[in-house]
Amino acid sequence: MFDLIIIGGGPAGLTATVYALRKRLNVLLITKDLGGKTNFRLQLPDVEHHLVINGEEVVNRFVNEIEYLDFSRVMDKVEKIQKAPGGHSVRVKSGTEYLAKALVIATGANARRLNVPGEKEYMMRGLCYSAVSYAPLFIERNTAVVGDAGLALRSAAELAQIAKRVTLVAPTHGELDSALGKRLLASSNVVVLEGYQVQRVNGDDYARSLVVKKNGDTREIAADAIFVELGLDANSDVVGGLAERDLEGRIKIDARNRTSAPGIFAAGDVTDAFAEQVLISIGEGAKAALSAYEYLLGQPVEEPVAAGEWR
Ligand SMILES: Cc1cc2nc3c(=O)[nH]c(=O)nc-3n(C[C@H](O)[C@H](O)[C@H](O)COP(=O)(O)OP(=O)(O)OC[C@H]3O[C@@H](n4cnc5c(N)ncnc54)[C@H](O)[C@@H]3O)c2cc1C
Repeated sequence: MFDLIIIGGGPAGLTATVYALRKRLNVLLITKDLGGKTNFRLQLPDVEHHLVINGEEVVNRFVNEIEYLDFSRVMDKVEKIQKAPGGHSVRVKSGTEYLAKALVIATGANARRLNVPGEKEYMMRGLCYSAVSYAPLFIERNTAVVGDAGLALRSAAELAQIAKRVTLVAPTHGELDSALGKRLLASSNVVVLEGYQVQRVNGDDYARSLVVKKNGDTREIAADAIFVELGLDANSDVVGGLAERDLEGRIKIDARNRTSAPGIFAAGDVTDAFAEQVLISIGEGAKAALSAYEYLLGQPVEEPVAAGEWR
């Protein structure tokens, strides 16, 4: 039986694992990959990449450490978590079941896709899903944002402060009546195309334009970068029925990364913590590991575990 199983090898899970190793916990990281979303970087011609804060050094260091300490990780997909005597059982796709006294869920979130021709081809080559990360690169450039809810409006507002022009393609009226929406509608360098649907992404080596359509009106919007800001889907199904989630499916945590389920902690983009950024996930992962450590210290002295297939 492990003291702690950490699920997800992005910035949050990697940091939690390294902290747990330092605390000499009997820890296992179960993940589909090492690095998570940090494996995706926006590629653009002629931009000053040093303007992006991406936590690369820390994440790479932790990836190297966990690659070296191969006993501390299993590369697999977690399919089910259930309550079990003394903690929780974690079943992975290959069929093995592991048992731990405490868990940290750090499975991240996925950006909603446009699902139009050209999206896959230009993904991370001019087309990206994180304006908050890359906005500083677009001084005096033309940008496009797709979306009509809070995330898209915040992205467009941030870009509008530095970019020459921001075209906001809003498929519906969405949150355009909010204070931020009204501010965007009044901005001289923001064009709002309400009710337009994206048809395709065009480009050469990089994405260069969006084709959008509303009824019979088709337009092509040229942009140095295209940000798809349709929202995030938290990968939280593994705790379905165990821990509380908010209306958007994010795992609810308190200031110590505790979920509503005793012994289950969570960190990073899968939670309702503010802002999806690498440095924030690193900090949240560290907090979750320390919180789990404290929880484990407070547990009664171990009773013998029943024989069986637990590892
Ligand atoms: C395109 C893009 C570019 C970005 N650029 C930046 C940037 O420049 N700077 C910045 O600060 N932020 C950036 N972000 C945001 C940042 O990458 C995320 O906030 C951060 O990676 C979240 O870390 P995380 O550990 O919570 O989740 P993730 O990085 O999403 O990692 C989740 C991990 O969980 C694993 N996993 C998921 N489900 C399971 C399962 N069932 N079983 C096992 N493993 C599972 C995944 O394989 C992955 O290893 C960017 C995001 C995107 C989408």
